[in-house]
Amino acid sequence: MREVHLPQVSRRDFLKIGAATAGGTGLSALGFDLAEATQVKLGLRIAGATQAHSICPYCAVGCSILTYTDTKGKLLQIEGDPDSPVNEGRLCPKGASAMQLATSARRVDSVQHRAPGATEWKTITWNEALDKIAQNIKDSRDRTFVQQDANGNTVNRTEGIAFAGGAAFSSEEGYFTTKVMRSLGLVHLEQQARV
Ligand code: SF4
Repeated sequence: MREVHLPQVSRRDFLKIGAATAGGTGLSALGFDLAEATQVKLGLRIAGATQAHSICPYCAVGCSILTYTDTKGKLLQIEGDPDSPVNEGRLCPKGASAMQLATSARRVDSVQHRAPGATEWKTITWNEALDKIAQNIKDSRDRTFVQQDANGNTVNRTEGIAFAGGAAFSSEEGYFTTKVMRSLGLVHLEQQARV
């Protein structure tokens, strides 16, 4: 039997073919070339834009994204990088909304503190926030530290503090933060991806 060699089609080519096929469907159903109209629209949006490579900030999968910025550095669009072996052009819904991290008018970009009993949030500096966190950790640890359990076993632990890690942690960050928290005597460690 004669061997048939199919042409090698990259993912990028496949997406282009898919878009062209969809365009054909659009042409017969709507009377104009839908794919071409979409390309014109996208072309206008990112025409002349600078493309850069980046990584989705949300989780440790580390999907690659392409970003497009205008001449003033304004972010115009993000999309999955089709050349990435990790995500091959795809982004999950969370990653696809990553553009809002930079562009959303509702994004809070300063540290907010609401004192106990207060009804209003107040803007504070990072130094103030870090000092406060450090002081609270020390106070809670001093107050709740247990050297021995009810049976006289040495435990050296505090159950007055819990720690939740972020899914964007790399292995090294996860290892480091776990070491720091265990050295403080924490036993309640959780991971944001599981809650
Ligand atoms: S949040 Fe979604 S898009 Fe972002 S790295 Fe994780 S899987 Fe990828």
